[in-house]
Amino acid sequence: MGEILVTGGAGFIGTHTCIALLQAGYSVVILDNLCNAKQESLLHLQEITGKSIPFYHMDIRNADGLRQIFQTHHISAVLHFAGLKAVGESVQQPLRYYQNNIGGMMTLLEELQKTDCRTLIFSSSATVYGTQHTAPYAETVTPLSASNPYGETKIISEQLLQDLCQADSDWHITALRYFNPIGAHESGLLGEEPHGIPSNIAPYLALVASGQLPYFRVYGNDYDTPDGTGVRDYVHVMDLAEGHVSALQYSIQHAGFSVFNLGTGSGCSVLELANMYEAVSGKPIPLKIFPRRAGDV
Ligand code: NAD
Repeated sequence: MGEILVTGGAGFIGTHTCIALLQAGYSVVILDNLCNAKQESLLHLQEITGKSIPFYHMDIRNADGLRQIFQTHHISAVLHFAGLKAVGESVQQPLRYYQNNIGGMMTLLEELQKTDCRTLIFSSSATVYGTQHTAPYAETVTPLSASNPYGETKIISEQLLQDLCQADSDWHITALRYFNPIGAHESGLLGEEPHGIPSNIAPYLALVASGQLPYFRVYGNDYDTPDGTGVRDYVHVMDLAEGHVSALQYSIQHAGFSVFNLGTGSGCSVLELANMYEAVSGKPIPLKIFPRRAGDV
């Protein structure tokens, strides 16, 4: 087995998955342009695992750079996390999202095609189920639909990967549709720490609990849920990380395009989560209700 290239490996899910990969005995190479991650996270990753990990500070759309990585390392599989993920931002900046998420994927696939590596795990999202279906969502459900450009990039990427597998039976590709990754490695050295004001719930709660933000913004209390706030299936990031190791082992053995959901199967509301965070941390979490956020299902 060669090395595993982890694109976006300095980010939230990428760093935690690298821990799981290294613990399972795989060697890892990380590529990240650090547009939403800190280099410091790589130091923490090395501290936790005791391993030195080759790191390329590079954009996924840099074809020459990718070629150099494939020439330097024997890459036998790619875990593709690199992408932009803020739903609201994608509504405001669709071009940037399509360029980064679809353009990035296409450059990666074009360069991969010049190598003998045909195994890829793609970070998709449960957002592809849109609003037409009711939970629980089976992977086979159609049609997929998105309520924002971010979700569209995931649907288009999945379609592209499926078409590629259809055209060439050598590919082994798995798309993982994550529900809501949350939490941190037990060391406390890693976690979710995006640049700027977070649009994901857990880092936002952390900033309020630690007094860096004055209150927690609840987007919408008029949803058709028991307490009116959005209900989500939150999945611990280390469980998700282990899911990637399983998906990698599965993909190595199975040609073609496969899709799996990664979630727990049970939901929790925004208010329940905020109240639990307050109870466990012992820190006050003041709340303010805002209108529903554009693009949220
Ligand atoms: P993240 O922002 O923490 O990690 C993504 C990483 O990719 C960042 O480190 C960023 O710097 C890097 N990156 C972005 N564009 C790049 C580019 N063009 N070239 C190189 N590096 C680039 O996000 P995450 O939560 O770890 O998400 C990882 C993947 O999982 C994303 O594709 C995201 O869409 C998907 N996903 C995330 C969630 C979630 O709630 N966190 C849910 C479903 C799917």
